[in-house]
Amino acid sequence: MSSSSDRPRPWRRLTALSPRARRRIHNASVIAPSPSSTLLRQLDVAGHGALIDDLTGLANRRALHRRLEAALAEPDARAALLLLDIDAFKDVNDTLGHDAGDAVLRQVGLRLEHVAIEADLLARVGSDEFAVLLTGSQADDAVAVGRRLRTLLETPLEVAGLGIRLGMNIGIAMAPRHATDATGLARRADVAMHLAKAQRTSIEVYAPERDLHSPTRLTLTADLHAAFADEQLEVHFQPQIDTYTGIVRGAEALVRWRHPQHGLMPPAAFLGLAERAGLMGPLALLVLADAIERCAQWRAAGHMLTVAVNLSVTNLMDPDLPTEVAALLRQSGLEAHHLELEITEDIVMADAVGPIGVLHELKELGVRLSLDDFGTGYSSLTYLKHLAVDALKIDGSFVRDMADSHEDAAIVGSIVALAHALDLTVVAEGVSSQQAYYAVRDAGCDIAQGFELGRPMTAASFGDWLIERAASSAA
Ligand code: C2E
Ligand code: CA
Ligand code: CA
Repeated sequence: MSSSSDRPRPWRRLTALSPRARRRIHNASVIAPSPSSTLLRQLDVAGHGALIDDLTGLANRRALHRRLEAALAEPDARAALLLLDIDAFKDVNDTLGHDAGDAVLRQVGLRLEHVAIEADLLARVGSDEFAVLLTGSQADDAVAVGRRLRTLLETPLEVAGLGIRLGMNIGIAMAPRHATDATGLARRADVAMHLAKAQRTSIEVYAPERDLHSPTRLTLTADLHAAFADEQLEVHFQPQIDTYTGIVRGAEALVRWRHPQHGLMPPAAFLGLAERAGLMGPLALLVLADAIERCAQWRAAGHMLTVAVNLSVTNLMDPDLPTEVAALLRQSGLEAHHLELEITEDIVMADAVGPIGVLHELKELGVRLSLDDFGTGYSSLTYLKHLAVDALKIDGSFVRDMADSHEDAAIVGSIVALAHALDLTVVAEGVSSQQAYYAVRDAGCDIAQGFELGRPMTAASFGDWLIERAASSAA
């Protein structure tokens, strides 16, 4: 069931209904149940006990479990289980009464049948929970099917002449990737569904490292502690190029984990883990120390660049951070304005007092601040002033399609105009083609960063790359 802390509840506005309207909903016409699949009917006919959900005519939980066990017992079995939970369904019952709630569930069942035609089985597995089972090659389409289901359920349902819009969270787990038994697969789909709800993403595929109870996650957490001691965390650097001169202006430091078994892991695979394990502080210090030291060395070798380090909200809650950054700068001899700290608009969501106080102290040291992923969050203009940033990084999602999309080009153009009016530097991220480079340059972006200009590299490779580039531009 959904918790009361969910996103804005569509049902709230219905509490204002007149008793007459509620009665109409109460007496809503009942849609006849329609059995889901022939397979299910065969099972039922074969005397396997109660396998049909009376309300919707779909399979019930027991039928799903049996079918799942049978499917997974096949050689080379492949399956995807999608678990769907209706948002704030309790409010429907509380507000409109149980009959209306039942009518809603029947309609949801009908819609699922409509979308998931390729499904092996559709089931109602809890009061407001449904499941879709895809087997064989269909399993590869699980995410696409999930998206279609979500879109379809966004279209308002008609209950007694009222349009009711439902929210829905979908968790997906796949066999054999996530589990090879029915119970394991169901549990993992449930974990993914709760994650979709908690993160408000509405659809998630199971990921062991985000599962609090998965053995992988437990060992990964232990591994992460060891990674600090064993120096498995590495800082890679991605060049940032001045679009007017073509000169390398800076490098963004990006952390990676060289795991002894899993190989080089991207930050997305372990930052969440680090966050929950309380390791974001040590991680930031490690990256800061390395980035500051390398930048000082490159500058000493004649490469006049700056370095940018990503900070999370957690880092900005740490009142000791400014002192630590000051010490690292002092030790390396790097001037503060050659260090840029990248923050995201998330900090506006966090209790603004702590992080913003820390930000101001960092500013006082003389470091530069940039607002990362601009355009994806609040992008509120008032914050730009409030946070005292020096640069904006336009998110790669706008840059990617700029050359083909008038809208994206217009968005980038107006961000540049705004930023320049506020005297901010504009960095375009995710520049992954020549075309994109020309587009951001022509739009007035000051700095470009992306695979087209240089991928993130180890510090050693980045050093070599700087030398080669300097040599070829001198030639
Ligand atoms: P970000 O700060 O937006 O970093 C840019 C990401 O885009 C990097 O991914 C980079 O490899 C990738 N990228 C760069 N150019 C291109 C391109 O042309 N095309 C595409 N598709 N991608 C490009 P990466 O290294 O996987 O980092 C992901 C995110 O992890 C970063 O996004 C940042 O939010 C976070 N992160 C990385 N290092 C750190 C760190 O040391 N501390 C913290 N707190 N977060 C970090
Ligand atoms: Ca960044
Ligand atoms: Ca970014």
